Amino acid sequence: MTTSQPHSTAQSEALFARARAVTPGGVNSPVRAFRSVGGVPRFIASAQGAYLTDADGTRYLDYIGSWGPMILGHNHPAVREAVTQALAGGTSFGAPNEREVDLAELIVGLTGAERVRFVSSGTEATMSALRLARGYTGRKYIVKFRGNYHGHADGLLVEAGSGLMTNAEGELGAAAPSSAGVPEEYAGLTLVLDYNAPEALDALMAARGEEIAAVIFEPVVGNAGVLIPTPDFLAALHRVRDFGAVLIADEVMTGFRLSLSGATGLLSLDPDLRCWGKIVGGGLPVGAYGGRADIMDFVSPQGPVYQAGTLSGNPLAMAAGIATLRELKANPDLYRQLDDYATRLAAGLREAAARAGVPVSINHIGSMLTVFFQGAPDGSVRDYAAAARSDTAAFAAWFQGLLSRGVYWAPSQFESIFISAAHGEAELSATLEAAAQAFEGVES
Ligand code: PMP
Repeated sequence: MTTSQPHSTAQSEALFARARAVTPGGVNSPVRAFRSVGGVPRFIASAQGAYLTDADGTRYLDYIGSWGPMILGHNHPAVREAVTQALAGGTSFGAPNEREVDLAELIVGLTGAERVRFVSSGTEATMSALRLARGYTGRKYIVKFRGNYHGHADGLLVEAGSGLMTNAEGELGAAAPSSAGVPEEYAGLTLVLDYNAPEALDALMAARGEEIAAVIFEPVVGNAGVLIPTPDFLAALHRVRDFGAVLIADEVMTGFRLSLSGATGLLSLDPDLRCWGKIVGGGLPVGAYGGRADIMDFVSPQGPVYQAGTLSGNPLAMAAGIATLRELKANPDLYRQLDDYATRLAAGLREAAARAGVPVSINHIGSMLTVFFQGAPDGSVRDYAAAARSDTAAFAAWFQGLLSRGVYWAPSQFESIFISAAHGEAELSATLEAAAQAFEGVES
């Protein structure tokens, strides 16, 4: 696997041509198009454990895990079995079902949230949590952090991370709003601060705290590459409640990934509301938001804040979520294993980069990791501006070097990779071998 293979991409190319004719850019989510790294996006035919197989039959060691959900590995037997069983009973009811209660009880038990409402994506979860915070407080403004991504609701596409950190030409984009089609008046209700800048947050709250409905944050950032919060910043976040603002931890990426109780548990946070997605649906479309009962009871039909969904609580999706959370609960040692893998991966990558003379700065926590192509000391990349100093051309060269050796890394400098339970010793050593060769191919 580790030799650079000139494997065929003919099928992916043909599919991409067909897709471009009927879908904007040929993809249904922008980063999949490989715009910032170049080359043909691989069309995936199937996935098993830690591996993807593309339409040309090439197998890749996968570090995306569907951008987070697949913490157990692809096509895990327990999840497959649960979905198959649910399928036999019908695919959607538009009426309450027992699995919704089971999954909500699991989440409440694991996280300490008092009430949970299911939606169908992370975007809907954050969008709904913000409407709820506005309805609860009667205030208009929200605060978010530069480079944090909370899905594509209008008011959140303001100096956002993820695919928005690279525009179509692969250049860094820093416009606010970060998308066309978001009215300035609407974006104006979103106040943006730097991540890990507690003084700025304190100053804003002191000046305008009474106008602010909510402060939403990624408790560990994945969407500017991995950024780890400082204790001072976390303390400042908790002080926003002194002004009556609702503190919303966006755990769409970190929930059930950094620990059974997410980043909230790992970092001893105490948010009022939390948003989930990805792992909570075990690879099927689920999002959720939840938290304090007195706030959540403002949600319709209990309260005046409207939010609904035709497929919310879908039985197949609930079954996948339940099976995933039960597996995680039954194997709490998994989080230590994932962290151990990431720590050894980071060490090996550092060593290989140094040998090849390529400057890198690696951030990792639990099973999330980013290799920033820049010479800053490890752990010192702490905000959007620092992440943006990375050499995206060097990253792209390294990415292609890995891909040609069968390792499918996240196709953007500004993303986390995700390690799963299916990544073992063989995968670690294959990755390090491929990565060392790929570093040799990077011009520094
Ligand atoms: N919040 C965070 C922290 C995310 O990482 C994402 C997706 N990457 C979202 C929200 C949006 O979730 P979805 O793509 O399911 O709408």
